[in-house]
Amino acid sequence: MADCLFCKIARKEIPAKIVYDDRQVVAFEDIHPQAPTHTLVISKSHFATLNDVGAEQEGLLGHMMLVAARVAKDKGLNTEGYRLVANCLEGAGQSVFHIHLHLLGGRRFAWPPG
Ligand code: AMP
Ligand code: ZN
Repeated sequence: MADCLFCKIARKEIPAKIVYDDRQVVAFEDIHPQAPTHTLVISKSHFATLNDVGAEQEGLLGHMMLVAARVAKDKGLNTEGYRLVANCLEGAGQSVFHIHLHLLGGRRFAWPPG
């Protein structure tokens, strides 16, 4: 999508600290980290929210989770633990309308979440 922030990052039109990149997804550091590790995993194709993703994207969604787990392992978080978050719509805190997973780690997290 032409004027979507994360599409622009995926196309390398806006700089980001990219830590993983393949045919389907890009992972990069969040600009306002909420934890010592705060990495975003985005799809290269544009879907505004999880509500807009159909069964055909089951593989893509699975791949996004596996990439998040791989980045977590690369960052040494696989033993201490980490959290994956997907905010869907404003009511849940979504601010960028292009699907993404937050990978958070390096500190303890409360439950229930805020
Ligand atoms: P959400 O609020 O779940 O939609 O998450 C969007 C995330 O994108 C927030 O954590 C923002 O800090 C992050 N963000 C916004 N703009 C950028 C950017 N240019 N580069 C990296 N992360 C960004
Ligand atoms: Zn987009």
